[in-house]
Amino acid sequence: MNLKNGNYELSNGVNLLSLCEKYDCPLYVYDTAIMKRQYKRLTNAFKVKKLKINYACKALTNINVLRYFKQLGAGLDTVSIQEVQMGLKAGFAPDDIIFTPNCVSLEEIEQALGYGVKINIDNIEILEQFGHVHNEVPVCIRINPHILAGGSSKISVGHIDSKFGISIYQLPHVLRVVEATGLTVEGIHMHTGSDILDSEVFLRGAEILFNSAKDFKDLEYVDFGSGFKVPYKENDIATDIEDLGEKLTERFNNFCEEYGKDLTLMFEPGKFLVSESGVFMVNVNVVKQTTSMVIAGVDSGQNHLIRPMFYNAHHNIVNISNPEAKPRIYTVVGYICETDTFGINRKISEIREGDVLAFYNAGAYCFSMASNYNSRYRPAEVLVHEGKDYLIRKRETIEDLMRNQVEAGIFEEHVVNENK
Ligand SMILES: *Cc1c(COP(=O)(O)O)cnc(C)c1O
Repeated sequence: MNLKNGNYELSNGVNLLSLCEKYDCPLYVYDTAIMKRQYKRLTNAFKVKKLKINYACKALTNINVLRYFKQLGAGLDTVSIQEVQMGLKAGFAPDDIIFTPNCVSLEEIEQALGYGVKINIDNIEILEQFGHVHNEVPVCIRINPHILAGGSSKISVGHIDSKFGISIYQLPHVLRVVEATGLTVEGIHMHTGSDILDSEVFLRGAEILFNSAKDFKDLEYVDFGSGFKVPYKENDIATDIEDLGEKLTERFNNFCEEYGKDLTLMFEPGKFLVSESGVFMVNVNVVKQTTSMVIAGVDSGQNHLIRPMFYNAHHNIVNISNPEAKPRIYTVVGYICETDTFGINRKISEIREGDVLAFYNAGAYCFSMASNYNSRYRPAEVLVHEGKDYLIRKRETIEDLMRNQVEAGIFEEHVVNENK
């Protein structure tokens, strides 16, 4: 999103404020040009014979976004059977979908198996049970290399007591289970968590994975998960994908030579592909002066964008209605009956009631984590593609909130007199 001649615009000159006028706020808008840019950065960075980027769709699950990544040539990384089903609906071939759940039942894994998708198993107990009944199905194994990554303790999944993956120290046990059950291991995987800050951490994890990979004779792919960080504010640290690409490409190509086979290098990024493509726009309801600060209260809250409250995440906020006014210092808060603060002491161009504020980096883990708390509707979503805007999700209505509620008939129904 760029400020041009006093207006905030997406690629191809699509004006953000006019989208608000057309679709109303609160509104999520995604720009496919940014998704494509990020996808190309990955495919250009890793110069290996076989590369597969599986979009981790939990970041943003709208079916149009799934279809766009399919068109770009991506596969799909899924963490629930419902995401598998959505991927199939979006038109992905089963073989282009990998199911990487955590702590799910054997039944759910068997359901995924029924769809013919790739299976990634993340604990020895399930591996053993699976191997006893389905040893004809090749699987991928999720290894936990215990490399510390992750910008917040909630998203770091590599530490020693993490619930994710099979500990690297349990590898001998894995090999025994594989041998006893006759399972074929076609893939080996690690995902150390979101927000990898430097290539070195990643490469240390990679080294551990290569080391374990040698013990499996039937590999087709090595999956390095994700955790690529994108900038959320000016001068923010971000994963230098080009630098990582250069280093890992060389190491991976060497490994393939040692292994004696051209394996597929896989990644499963979510945030990297969609975070920067998204903008979230809200209306300012109140501008309120307290004893120590000026508060801007907006028609949204933790129900629509929970990352600031849940992860302490920083999302840049700009005033797109009054972009060239004098900046002042604001605390931006939501309308939910909780302390749902979006940002403290933010320098924002003067805010008036009725102005529209826009949040940056609203593509990943924003709409997909939205809820109906306080019985509020979830926002509409719009996709901008080659200069045109498309509504890809309707704003909810009261019917959506009531849809699955059952009037059990236990208590007397209160009849509303509509003429009153
Ligand atoms: C969430 C998740 C990802 C995507 O992580 P990002 O930080 O969004 O890139 C990849 N793989 C697995 C297994 C995940 O659970």
